[in-house]
Amino acid sequence: MRSNSDVARHDGMRKIIHCDCDSFYASVEMRDDPSLRELPIAVGGSASRRGVIATCNYAARKYGLHSAMPMAQALRLCPDLVVVPTNMEKYRVESRRVQSIFYDYTDLVEPLSLDEAFLDVSQSSRHQGSATRIATEIRDRVRDEVGITISAGIAPNKFLAKIASDWDKPDGQFTITPSDIDAFMVDLPVEKIFGVGSVTAKKMSDMSIRTCGDLQGISATELAKRFGKFGTRLHQLCRGRDERPVSINRTRKSISTERTFADDLPTMAACQSQLNILFEDLQRRIAKANCQHRIKGRTLKLRFQGFDTTTVASTGQEVNQQTYLGLLTTAWERQQKPVRLIGLGVQLRELDNPDQTDLFGAEQPNL
Ligand SMILES: [Mg+2]
Repeated sequence: MRSNSDVARHDGMRKIIHCDCDSFYASVEMRDDPSLRELPIAVGGSASRRGVIATCNYAARKYGLHSAMPMAQALRLCPDLVVVPTNMEKYRVESRRVQSIFYDYTDLVEPLSLDEAFLDVSQSSRHQGSATRIATEIRDRVRDEVGITISAGIAPNKFLAKIASDWDKPDGQFTITPSDIDAFMVDLPVEKIFGVGSVTAKKMSDMSIRTCGDLQGISATELAKRFGKFGTRLHQLCRGRDERPVSINRTRKSISTERTFADDLPTMAACQSQLNILFEDLQRRIAKANCQHRIKGRTLKLRFQGFDTTTVASTGQEVNQQTYLGLLTTAWERQQKPVRLIGLGVQLRELDNPDQTDLFGAEQPNL
C-alpha cells in the first residue's frame, strides 16, 4: 500500500487538459462555406506553385492525404480535392476566440500552436473540480461560439493528456485517471511517445520492444546506455510519468468582453445603457485572471451597422466606468450610426518583460 506522502509526491494529483482543434484551418473554411462540408478539402498552397497541405479535412484524409504533403501529390491521390488558399489572418482571429474560452477556466494556459494548448485546471473549482466536465464544457462552447469542433485529453500530466486528446479524435474527449495509468501504458505502442521517431522505434523493435510495457522491463541503466540522455526520460514516460509544468510561455496580452446586439442600438444613449453590464463582466474577467497589476491600457470597440469597426484606446491602469464612457463617446462620434457590437477590454503588460523605463528610467545606483 502506498503511503499518503507517496500519493502527494506522485504527479497524479494534477489535472491537465490538452485541447486540440480538429483539422483547424479546414474546419474554419467549412464553417464559412458549408458547401465544402461533404467534400475533401485541403488548405494550403497551390500545386502549380509547389505548395503543400497545411491542413486537410477528414474526408480528404480518407484518401491518405496529410499535412505537409505536396499539393500536386495530393491531387493525384484525390483528383476531386478542393484546394482552399491559406488565410492566416482569419485563423489567428479564430484562434484568439478559442483561447479566450480556455482562459475562462484557468490562467495556466500553454499554447503550443494556433489550435492547441495545455490547460492546468488543478486549482479550478468549476464543476466541483472535475477536469472531465470542464473539458466537455469547453468543447461545447467552442462548437457553439466559434462554430468548429475541438478534441480534449484529460490526464494527470502533459504527456498523457496529449496522447488522450488524440484517442477519440475528431470531436471527442478521453480521460486517463491516475488509477488508469498502469493499464493504459502496458499496451501503448512506443511510437506514441513524443521523441520516438522511426529511427528510435526501429532500434527498439530490434530489441523486441514494441510497447511501453516492453520498455518497462528494461532497467534505467540499460536505457541510458542504449538511448543516452533520452533513455532516462524514456524510463519515466513509459510508466506514464511526466513532471513538466504547464508553462505560460506566451503571457496573456489582453482581457476583453464583447456583446453583439440582436437589435442595433440606435443612439449614444442606448449604447451607454449597455455599458454597465459589459463593464461588470470585464471586471469579473480581470478579477478571475488576477492580473489587475498588469493593466497598462483600456480599449473600447464599436461595430456599426454595415460592419465598420472602430477601436479607441487610452493608456493607464485605472479601470472605471467613467473611462469607458469617455472612450465610448469618442468611438460613437466617429460614425454616429446604429451600433451592432460593443467590446470593452484592457491591455496587459507582459509578466517577464517589465517596461524598459522601469529598469532604466531611474538613476542607476553606484555599486
Ligand atoms: Mg489540431
